[in-house]
Amino acid sequence: MYIHCHLQVILVTFFITYSASFSHVTHKIGALFSQPNYYSDKSFYYAIKRENMYNPEISFEDIYSEGSNDMLYVREGVCKLLEEGVVAIFGPSTVEGTSIAQSICENYEVPHIQVNWKAISRRYSQFYLNLYPDTDLLAKALGTVVKYMHWTKYVIIIEDENALIRLKDVLEVPNVNDNPVTVRKIEPNSDVRYLFKQFMKSGITKIILDCETDNILNYLQQAKSVGLLRDILHGVFLTSLDAHTLDFSAFNTTANITTVRIIDTESAALKNAITDWNFDHESERSFELVTSDTVRTEAALVHDATLLLLKSVRELTVTGKITATSIKCDDSIVWEDGLRLVSYMKKRGLTDALTGPLTFNEYGQRTNFSVDVVEIIGNNKIKTAIWHSEDPKVLKFVQSPEDQEKNIFSHFQDKTLIVSSRIGKPYLLNRTDELGNVVLEGFCYDLMWAIANYLNFSIKFELTEDNKYGNYDPATKSWNGIIGDILEHKAHLGICDLTITTGRRQAVDFSLPFMNLGISILYKKNPQEESKIFAFMEPFSLEVWLYTATFYLCVTIILFLVLRLSPEEWENPHLCDENPEELENIWEMKNCMWLTMGFIMAQGCDLLPKGISTRMALSMWGFFSLIVTSSYTANLAAFLTKQQQGPNIEDVESLAKSKVKYGVVDGGSTQVFFRTSNFSLYKRMWTQMQQFKPSVFEKDNADGVKRVLNSKEGMYAFFMENTGIEYEVERNCSLRAVGDTLDNKGYGIAMPLGAPYRYLINRAILKLQEDGVLDKLKKKWWKEKYGGGACDDEPPEDDAGSQKLGLKNVGGVFLVLGLGMVMGIIISIAEFLWNIRTISVEEHITFQEAFKAEAKFAANIWIDKKSTKPNSSESTSSSTSAGCESDTHSMSKKILNGTASLIDLDKADSDSK
Ligand code: ASP
Repeated sequence: MYIHCHLQVILVTFFITYSASFSHVTHKIGALFSQPNYYSDKSFYYAIKRENMYNPEISFEDIYSEGSNDMLYVREGVCKLLEEGVVAIFGPSTVEGTSIAQSICENYEVPHIQVNWKAISRRYSQFYLNLYPDTDLLAKALGTVVKYMHWTKYVIIIEDENALIRLKDVLEVPNVNDNPVTVRKIEPNSDVRYLFKQFMKSGITKIILDCETDNILNYLQQAKSVGLLRDILHGVFLTSLDAHTLDFSAFNTTANITTVRIIDTESAALKNAITDWNFDHESERSFELVTSDTVRTEAALVHDATLLLLKSVRELTVTGKITATSIKCDDSIVWEDGLRLVSYMKKRGLTDALTGPLTFNEYGQRTNFSVDVVEIIGNNKIKTAIWHSEDPKVLKFVQSPEDQEKNIFSHFQDKTLIVSSRIGKPYLLNRTDELGNVVLEGFCYDLMWAIANYLNFSIKFELTEDNKYGNYDPATKSWNGIIGDILEHKAHLGICDLTITTGRRQAVDFSLPFMNLGISILYKKNPQEESKIFAFMEPFSLEVWLYTATFYLCVTIILFLVLRLSPEEWENPHLCDENPEELENIWEMKNCMWLTMGFIMAQGCDLLPKGISTRMALSMWGFFSLIVTSSYTANLAAFLTKQQQGPNIEDVESLAKSKVKYGVVDGGSTQVFFRTSNFSLYKRMWTQMQQFKPSVFEKDNADGVKRVLNSKEGMYAFFMENTGIEYEVERNCSLRAVGDTLDNKGYGIAMPLGAPYRYLINRAILKLQEDGVLDKLKKKWWKEKYGGGACDDEPPEDDAGSQKLGLKNVGGVFLVLGLGMVMGIIISIAEFLWNIRTISVEEHITFQEAFKAEAKFAANIWIDKKSTKPNSSESTSSSTSAGCESDTHSMSKKILNGTASLIDLDKADSDSK
């Protein structure tokens, strides 16, 4: 208890003693400001004034001295301030002046406070404090910002060599296309239009400009006057931390202007400070009102530094008196409290500074800071991203996607974007209109206009010179086709059946896919044979047909001989006569031929031999016939089915195995697919494709389709994307798609890397998809326009096997039947006439009379019995029993003759007579 009371007494005594001794102490603070100093002096003055209001016991006085680049003046100025007995010296702001002031201050151990960029980052000095961001870290910040801009081709313009130190990380940013980075030094504020013209000519539309803040607008105007910085794809990155303070309202451009700043324009402390700075405005009128957007970095840093100094002096006074000493520059003394003060300031830092929290490293450098990335749209300065020294390789985007879109959208309005494309059905076509003008149309044309209308901008289609999609040539290290146009900034967008691939994605950005697809095979239907009406002949070759016919004749003759030799084939002709005088053999040539014909037609015959030898011979013919007819039947079915299916290529494997050649579009993504595939089958096919002669690589899809159609016997297949195949098979019914797709990918709209309008285009695509516009366009260009739907009646390919046979396949059978019938009628007429002639001779009547009677009888289809007397037209109702009477033969003969009986009884009849 005693000890506690004792301590209290000591402390109170201590504070009273000190307070008494410190009352009304005034510390002097020296400043050398170069002109113009953009409110640095005001900032200095008001910071001191405000601080003096809070604590009148320890007040501060601002002492000014003239600061200039001239070494003598700077030295003089600093010495003057030292003589005044200042506790710290600010400025001057020039690089040379700063070094002089710093070395003098160091000599006399007086804190030197700097607020400007320094070329040398880390030089150990105990007596200075620099509030300007550390050189190395700021270089990292600039490098990261440039990296995130994804620029492919740009030029760096500098006004002095020191800029290369600021930009050392920018120079190391990896370039997408290995384009060398050009650096050009220019005279400050000179006429550089010729330089900008040169850039334009060589396709450079992006500039990194490192120059005095006050010269920026001049350069930008010059660039604009020669056509640079006029387009949405042109861009400039201003490295000055004060570029955002300029008035861009007169510089009307759609180009992208990006800059960086360290001032927190939203901070309350800044607003307070500005109120102070503008305080005298009404009375002075000699300066313009300052706003949070026009505060220069130096002024803000002077404000922060002054606050830090004043707070530090005050706080240090509590632990030990700070007594300023008047020092002459010739003296060899030092200020004793200088080191204590500067060390305390380094450790203390400041949280509520205008340029973010202040923290320092041992070298008095500001190492912990953040940089805002600012887009300048019109005269609006929009913070889009933030960089922080803690994570120097990363840029954090702070805008919400909606805000980003809004900004870009405002950029877009009523502008005309160039769209690079290529002619290829049905994506883009040339058409001559009623007035004879060549106009463009097609799916991509409609789609692009739908997007443009939705986003409220205009478009102009430009055809890419080489009509290629876009392929990288390692020899020239450049891209051709549409991708080349995008990279060379000839176009803002690229659209056609342009496949999104990883290779292309590294060079350009793509929108969301507007169509999904995969590689498939385009092949000809039935490429081997056209349907023939005599297709039923096809199952056997001509040879087999000839052999069969020859064997038919030979076997018939052999059978004829065998049947004559066989005793069992000689039979009693009169069944009622048990002891006939003669025997009869019915196997004359005609019947033999009918017998063998019946067998080979698999119909059998009502006359059959009885002898063992003849049956033996006939059964062999029967066996032969069985094999031949069943082979024919089986082969006929297989043959006709095969005819409908076409060649035996059902997928990529069977294509690879077949002798059919296959190709792709030259320089397209399909070619790249095979070239870069790791799958052994595709690798093999790629090797094959390279070896095929003549070349199987086609200029475009249209050529590939033509080649498939013109190929003899279907000896060429073409790998094409299934969307294109779909279009072709809709119109050309002799084409078909074979197998499944080999991969899955999509068509997208290409645009420069990091193109600001990418999200808008994506949004438009999604909207058009949701509204069914994409489907409608697809239907229009695939199914309706230019002969779409021509093959709708064709059966689907899968049904080819079960397809019904048409007349063109079996017409020949009908023809043969017809011919057979006609022959039958002719022969029967001949027989009929011959019979009339015989009757007229036998009955001693005229041919006409006999003809009349027979014709009349034949015409009466209700009569089925016939009198043997030709002039009796009446039918007889009496039927004779299976007669043994002699005239029965005559009647049988007539009936059999008339009905083309199988049995020729003429001979038997005449024999019986
Ligand atoms: N659509 C493809 C491309 O973009 C062309 C192809 O290879 O079929 O390259």
